[in-house]
Amino acid sequence: LLAHQERWESNARTYPRHLPIALAEGSGSFVRDVDGNVFIDFLAGAGVLSLGHNHPELVRAVRHQLDSLTHGLDFPTPAKDAFTQAQLSMLAPEPRERTRLHFCGPTGANAVEAAIKLCKIATGRGDIISFQGAFHGSTHATMALSGPVSQKAPVRDGMPGVHFFPYTASDQDVGSVSGADLLEQALRDSDGGIPPPAAVIMEMVQGEGGNFVARTDFVRKVREVTRSLGIPLIVDEVQTGCGRTGTWFAYQQYGIEPDVIVASKALSGIGLPVALILYDTALDTWAPGAHIGTFRGNQLAFAAGVETVRVIRRDGILGNVRRQGDRIADRLAGLTRDPWVRQVRGRGLMWGIELADPRDGRPATEVAAAVQHHALRHGLIVERGGRGDAVVRLLPPLNVTAEVVDMACSILVDAVSAGAG
Ligand code: PMP
Repeated sequence: LLAHQERWESNARTYPRHLPIALAEGSGSFVRDVDGNVFIDFLAGAGVLSLGHNHPELVRAVRHQLDSLTHGLDFPTPAKDAFTQAQLSMLAPEPRERTRLHFCGPTGANAVEAAIKLCKIATGRGDIISFQGAFHGSTHATMALSGPVSQKAPVRDGMPGVHFFPYTASDQDVGSVSGADLLEQALRDSDGGIPPPAAVIMEMVQGEGGNFVARTDFVRKVREVTRSLGIPLIVDEVQTGCGRTGTWFAYQQYGIEPDVIVASKALSGIGLPVALILYDTALDTWAPGAHIGTFRGNQLAFAAGVETVRVIRRDGILGNVRRQGDRIADRLAGLTRDPWVRQVRGRGLMWGIELADPRDGRPATEVAAAVQHHALRHGLIVERGGRGDAVVRLLPPLNVTAEVVDMACSILVDAVSAGAG
């Protein structure tokens, strides 16, 4: 299998080779590798394939679009217009009224860059506040905003002026001091605190950081403080967005309204790249062309994205996300009896199993790797992330069925007892 990977994966690429398989075809929640082995895909293209592989209606929409227009650059087109309307229709009516949609091309990192530039221009300020454990991308600026130092240490002088505060996850006792309290303290201390930043950026669930779900009062307080100090709040929904956590955007479960929303990954539902920011008109002070890019007009992605929204609505997929999320919670609840399992946590269809050494609490990297490989050998693809890559991460398609969830969870339960045993 490794031979396949070495043959097909760019030897210039530094992505860790967690999964030694080469994919040949996919259908729904399943993929087949080049050797004919079938796997349940609980990675779904890093949360991109919200309706699974090759959803027939999305494929049909893309085929249809192929016949008329594929790349439209920045020109208005019917597909782009329909896509824009579909995205805006997912916002609450009142914020929708004062929301602008800007296409960024074509990755999540590019959309985060656009959000940062927008806020820097609108505020005239330069610094950004981010949170420990955050992941926002792999370009210079987005990497600088990300928490883990292992990736950025070799790249000197990434981007100056990023201040990190602790991310307060839902497993921390309500009422205990949160990252938002510390952030408020630092921002209100005019004599020794930190200068007002251009923006605060946060994820509602830190996906790459190890699947930590933000505590509600933490998020609300970040919103309160930023609003009262006139600091734009950027919510990075690249991974949590498009239904992944059971609402179209995850912030909608926190009772807040951000100033800027960043979205990408699952917007097309089928892996065709598209990225955008949605932002409050009050921030709309940048000049036309302030953030441009060649690949912002992928008509195939727009056509698939319109169909994705239609199917998600028609088939009640957000309800399925909540139901199957509860099912995963239920099926995996027993895992915490294993001394190597520190926590099982998630929201919607974004789950993590954190493996830690019971003797010293350190990330159990080897055990997590063993769990991942055991699962793969038994027909389930899952990814790892978080500190020491010790969190086994599940990102199934949003239309996954209860039967597939049960199959996957039973493989995982066996994998944990084999891996930790
Ligand atoms: N933000 C978040 C929250 C992400 O999870 C990711 C990708 N994992 C990114 C930004 C970067 O997206 P991309 O890989 O498309 O640049």
